[in-house]
Amino acid sequence: SIPLGYFGGIGAASANGILFKGSNFLDLITKLNTVVMDKTGTLTKGVFSVQQVESSMDEQEFLDLLTAVEAKSTHPIAKAIVAYAGEKEIRPAENIEEIAGMGLKGRVNGKEVLAGNVKLLEKFNIGFEAKIKNIEESIVVVAVDQQYLGYVLIADEAKEDAADAVKQLHENGIKQVVMLSGDKTAIVKKVALALGIDAYYGDLLPEDKVARLEEIKKDQARVVAFVGDGINDTPVLAMSDIGIAMGAMGSDAAIETADVVIQTDQPSKIATAIKIGKATKSVVI
Ligand code: ADP
Ligand code: MG
Repeated sequence: SIPLGYFGGIGAASANGILFKGSNFLDLITKLNTVVMDKTGTLTKGVFSVQQVESSMDEQEFLDLLTAVEAKSTHPIAKAIVAYAGEKEIRPAENIEEIAGMGLKGRVNGKEVLAGNVKLLEKFNIGFEAKIKNIEESIVVVAVDQQYLGYVLIADEAKEDAADAVKQLHENGIKQVVMLSGDKTAIVKKVALALGIDAYYGDLLPEDKVARLEEIKKDQARVVAFVGDGINDTPVLAMSDIGIAMGAMGSDAAIETADVVIQTDQPSKIATAIKIGKATKSVVI
């Protein structure tokens, strides 16, 4: 059913929206036993929407300051916040810094605005109400001129084929599917359980993802793929035996670093890639 040989394998993959950057990966992918995946944008849609706004200042002013800094970011969370602002004119923001795995810092109308997670507030020694640590949903907290002012609650959802993608990996020789995420552990756990993922780790900074992958790779018997989409995923994509980028909405850096690029936003194509590798091998050998 699938064309013969390595060239045929690469062609069959390409017809399925899967780009192999070398025939060696077509062979190596058949030996995979561990697949480590990012959450946001890889297993979930990465399309957030604002659900709720909680602020101790005028809500419109609060949203205007937040939107101004988020307009300078390409993060899926930032896109949700900018979309929520609708047609409204966005204020200029300056001195924007992206703080990996935490959020943003910038200047709007002479005010210093921080927008991100609780780790960001802790990094800048900003006091906040303890209860926000217990919110089991994604929030973006905001501080203006060193003062915590509130948060917006945002939601993301699993991709339609995410559970099937994990199931198909298990059916195609993958012993362990692991999820690594910068998002809160409580959310990561919920998604992992819903999708049938074997192990999960949340609250990870980019360097924590590297440390986790090193730990996983210590077991010599493992052949490990990492699947991700973000700039933050580049180091782990490079470190894994096979780096797989979700290319449909993924960052250019992730696509360039990866060995295999899934050109649609369907994680089930990872199992398709393994199947094509196996079919190719059976005719080459
Ligand atoms: P993931 O591993 O889930 O893809 P990232 O490493 O991209 O997550 O981000 C980790 C966390 O950092 C996010 O869950 C969010 O809390 C925070 N964050 C990152 N960028 C932004 C931003 N532009 N605005 C608000 N929060 C952000
Ligand atoms: Mg991501």
